[in-house]
Amino acid sequence: MTAAVAGGCLCGGVRFTLEGDLRGVVVCHCSLCRRWGTYAGAYTRVARAGLRLVAAETLTLYVDANGRERSFCRACGTSLFWAVPGEDGVSVSAGALDGGDHLRLARHIHVAGAAAWEPPPTGGPRHPRGSDSPPVSSE
Ligand SMILES: [Zn+2]
Ligand SMILES: [Zn+2]
Repeated sequence: MTAAVAGGCLCGGVRFTLEGDLRGVVVCHCSLCRRWGTYAGAYTRVARAGLRLVAAETLTLYVDANGRERSFCRACGTSLFWAVPGEDGVSVSAGALDGGDHLRLARHIHVAGAAAWEPPPTGGPRHPRGSDSPPVSSE
């Protein structure tokens, strides 16, 4: 149904394709994603079987304080994937996709953890904490 979408890091050491259904983009305002990126993290999500690594020689895994497996390129520093061990899904940095213009915002999460300097999150439901916390409003 969905055509494969390609992506990769800044230097090209990591290249991948995503096949199958891609979730809308979830923007996470937690402090870990902010530190991992520079700002809120924006991720689509694909089944593990739908992520195919085309080049991965510089791909490096780091397990964060919450047990998330975060993968990045050790040559150029691009943040690429994160996953919860045992879950059948991988979150993929939306900014690492070559295109992805067909994707739309799904929701904001962890808005209670946003930095004071962030502009107000708009364009979708805003969850104070994770996706399972009731949204503060929808638009
Ligand atoms: Zn790279
Ligand atoms: Zn986060």
